[in-house]
Amino acid sequence: FATLPDLIRAHARAQPGKVALAEAGGELDYAGLDALVDRVAAALQRDGVAPGSAVAIVAAAGIENAAVFLGALRAGCVATPLAPSATPDSISAMIVDCGAPITFVDADAAKALAGQRIPGTLVHLKSLATWLAPEGAQPAPVEIRPADGFNIIYSSGTTGSPKGIVQSHAMRWAHIARNAAAGFGEAVTMIATPLYSNTTLVSFLPTLGWGGTVVLMKKFDARGYLQLAERHRATHTMLVPVQYQRIMALADFDRFDLSSFRLKTGTSAPFSAALKADIVARWPGLLVEYYGMTEGGASTGLNASAHPDKLHTVGPPLPGHEIRLIDDDGQEVAPGEMGEVVGRSPTMMTGYHGRAEATAAAEWHDADGNRYIRHGDVGRFDEDGFLILLDRKKDLIISGGFNIYPTDLEAVLARHPAVAECSVIGVPSEAWGETPVGFYVPHTGVDASIDEIRDWTNAQLGKTQRLSALHAIDELPRSAIGKVLKRELRDRLQQDAI
Ligand code: ATP
Ligand code: MG
Repeated sequence: FATLPDLIRAHARAQPGKVALAEAGGELDYAGLDALVDRVAAALQRDGVAPGSAVAIVAAAGIENAAVFLGALRAGCVATPLAPSATPDSISAMIVDCGAPITFVDADAAKALAGQRIPGTLVHLKSLATWLAPEGAQPAPVEIRPADGFNIIYSSGTTGSPKGIVQSHAMRWAHIARNAAAGFGEAVTMIATPLYSNTTLVSFLPTLGWGGTVVLMKKFDARGYLQLAERHRATHTMLVPVQYQRIMALADFDRFDLSSFRLKTGTSAPFSAALKADIVARWPGLLVEYYGMTEGGASTGLNASAHPDKLHTVGPPLPGHEIRLIDDDGQEVAPGEMGEVVGRSPTMMTGYHGRAEATAAAEWHDADGNRYIRHGDVGRFDEDGFLILLDRKKDLIISGGFNIYPTDLEAVLARHPAVAECSVIGVPSEAWGETPVGFYVPHTGVDASIDEIRDWTNAQLGKTQRLSALHAIDELPRSAIGKVLKRELRDRLQQDAI
């Protein structure tokens, strides 16, 4: 059974001088990467880190971070990248949860974790060179089986406490294989999201698996991204919607030479039809939007360039992915009706690490006993089998007995010229049970009062959908991967902090 590190070794033999990883400060070719991965794996073995152990990494995206991730795989360990942006308490809780006997930290993470009691060995990336096995070291070969753990990704906690999502080698292998036709072998893939996110890994892993070049950004900024993409003649990228939005909003966007791009992908949060249309019109190369979850139930893909009339959808299920829609009683809904998305595919998680109950709660079984993962999102299929995503089930607003989908309201609000970004949540209401309340970040240079914007929005909404209040804020609270944290908006409103 060949694993990703085996593919990297093969590329190192076939194209030793080709750049595998690049960042603003440097680059590493396949021969160099292969040798570094060996030294990491040999050092893990020297330290007694057994195959199957989690290896935790708390660091911004970069060459060393990526090499430790891959070295852990070569030693048969489970790569466990953690969010440096999480609180120190929750980082140590995740390290305890995955049981990592060794944790790698960059300078910022080391500072943040200074007061914490972290179990196991702590290795600073700053002194990685002294920890590594000597140059030329070879790790003892390790047998890896398809069902063995490849990585653990902690859920972002958008809707609950972080759970460790375990993905196997077989699942990652299926994903890399699925991308055979995506041109990753010749790709220069720009990545500006962190390595502990599945959004990143779904383009990072196939690029290395097929022998392309990955360009990593430690921290995203729109202009820096375009400059780096231009310099490297980038062909592929994965970005989240808010990153696309910030890039497209640059006044001189059209002055950058992006003619090298072939495939741009986006995922992880609602992507407005207007934004997709703007990217298709002004940024060369195909635009494909993916919908899915780290747990990997099933994914859909929308080729936005080929389907200008379907930009309000997230596309049909990918080949080999099966989606069904169910009601509150767990029964499948009639065709065309909306329901909770459940899905199955070759890229489903093994389960939540050490949480059999949570894993069972996340599953649904069809009449034949097939296992599906519940997505927690509400959607419906249009007549062509394209999925229209309505909202997360938890964000749905029930007002006076009517279901209100915040995304419908957000789509209208976002069209007002004075609104740069927006979000709508449900708040408790004595009269209606719940009522929708909006938040927006004002566009600089466009003048409009809050009342004007609210009235303009409400005039385009159904009677039962209208916003009962609208608030202007400086910035929407977002997770490190750019998802709006509605939970935090609710808290702030409750604490009168808005
Ligand atoms: P947690 O599970 O901790 O609450 P999360 O659900 O945000 O965090 P992910 O697995 O990264 O963690 O995200 C999956 C969710 O992201 C989906 O269930 C869906 O709500 C949203 N999502 C993903 N892709 C899209 C998309 N293209 N359009 C709209 N929403 C999307
Ligand atoms: Mg989720």
